[in-house]
Amino acid sequence: MSLPDRKTDIGPPHYEQFLHPVIKKNFGKWKYHEEINAGVMVHVAESGEKIYTVRAATPRLLATDTIREYCDIAEKHCDGYLRFTTRNNVEFFVDSESKVQPLLDDLKSKDYLVGGIGARISNVVHTQGWVHCHSAATDASGLVKVIMDEFHEYFSSKELANRCRIAVACCVNMCGAVHCSDIALVGVHKTPPRIMHEGVKNSCEIPSTIASCPTTAISPDPANKSVKIKLEKCMYCGNCYSVCPAMPIADTENDGIAIVVGGKVSNLRKPPMFSKLAVPWLPNNPPRWPEVVDVVKIILKEYEKGARKHERMGEWIARISWEKFFSVTGLEFKIQHIDDFTYARETFRTTAAFKWT
Ligand code: SF4
Ligand code: SF4
Repeated sequence: MSLPDRKTDIGPPHYEQFLHPVIKKNFGKWKYHEEINAGVMVHVAESGEKIYTVRAATPRLLATDTIREYCDIAEKHCDGYLRFTTRNNVEFFVDSESKVQPLLDDLKSKDYLVGGIGARISNVVHTQGWVHCHSAATDASGLVKVIMDEFHEYFSSKELANRCRIAVACCVNMCGAVHCSDIALVGVHKTPPRIMHEGVKNSCEIPSTIASCPTTAISPDPANKSVKIKLEKCMYCGNCYSVCPAMPIADTENDGIAIVVGGKVSNLRKPPMFSKLAVPWLPNNPPRWPEVVDVVKIILKEYEKGARKHERMGEWIARISWEKFFSVTGLEFKIQHIDDFTYARETFRTTAAFKWT
């Protein structure tokens, strides 16, 4: 029997207990909000109360020391109140304008980049990469670092037509928000898993390995007491490797990065949009990934040049057409842009215009 006051680690605590008192008091009763500059905004309640938000980029990956430093900053300036946004920015809350500048000064003295509010790039959301995940086709935090090194001015000062959300996922399992970001990098494998029969036989459960394949490419191989893969059905997703470690998929030469563009979560003006393929493959070239950075630069510059005010990346492309997008960016339209996949139960194809048979 559970005791009413017993604290457990099952489920998150109710968010309300962490709200800033001004937010709690005026919940759902806001009159308007205003962007004061790239890193500061104010929300004004019907009661006249105000809450100021100061946004800063967070480093990828976060050290315990950094989190402690955020907490110290929040204790010093904001009565302990902070939050992380869905794009992993850190936001500090203060209830009077006079508290904003000392907070900004403190963040600057500790070299935190303040910005990301409004028509700019935000902190780059990303997945685990080589640091943690077994199925990564590329690194995530390393790529984010080079992207932010290149485009930090679009976070802290320069404006675009609208916000531009960038995301990185290190494989197509896509733990990041790649499907709904303006520019997104996805690690892709180009070769099927290698089957190590001895390992499969001794360490993997054959039925669950077969069941793990979304395209039914895996079947039993009784002669080897193992499994086999029908190659034309394999889409190199790496799902089987998560279930059976004796089927590694990482490949130093062939793994690389695809770039997809034009997704968004917002339903402002247009419904949410899925990202679509711009570049099918670029080489994995750590530690600075120059080929990837160059393409992101081209796409962002063309968007900056061509988009009308308030147009998101996908809206800009929809207006000028995909043909024009490929022509202004100089990116090559390749066979991989044609949706020819016949084995998945469903694809994101919404028109038959590009069906390849
Ligand atoms: S996107 Fe893929 S490789 Fe990256 S953390 Fe998620 S499952 Fe792992
Ligand atoms: S990589 Fe994906 S598609 Fe290919 S065999 Fe494994 S689970 Fe199936």
